Amino acid sequence: MKRLWTLFPLLLANGAFAACEFDVEVGDSLQFSVSEIEVEASCESVTINLKHTGQLPAAAMGHNWVLTTDADFQDVATAGMGVGLEGNYVPSGDDRVIAATKIIGGGESTSISFPTGDLDAAGSYTFFCSFPGHWSIMKGSFRIV
Ligand code: ZN
Repeated sequence: MKRLWTLFPLLLANGAFAACEFDVEVGDSLQFSVSEIEVEASCESVTINLKHTGQLPAAAMGHNWVLTTDADFQDVATAGMGVGLEGNYVPSGDDRVIAATKIIGGGESTSISFPTGDLDAAGSYTFFCSFPGHWSIMKGSFRIV
């Protein structure tokens, strides 16, 4: 019995999905390790740690993590394609981009933190990789809960 009780807090901690910081992995395929991210409304900011566990360089299989509203997602992704790798395939100075990391290749990592103050709990947001050809598949939902 004693053992069960000592395990209990650990189970609770591991079972709590919503948090303020998220580890997201990508590899040499068009897939994020998570398909949805739920941020607790009490978080003042959210941090995304993006890690590329693959082998391919950024020019061939680069990935980033970009956040927009659902409504802006396709337009921003399309605009990003014309920017090029130097600009991380994200239109610069675009108000529709809520957050965006740089493009990384195999073995690289990057992080971004941004305030949640402008995000709406009733809103629905899309995170995606803006690398050309990736965004229609590499995407997920992001919500404040
Ligand atoms: Zn990608």
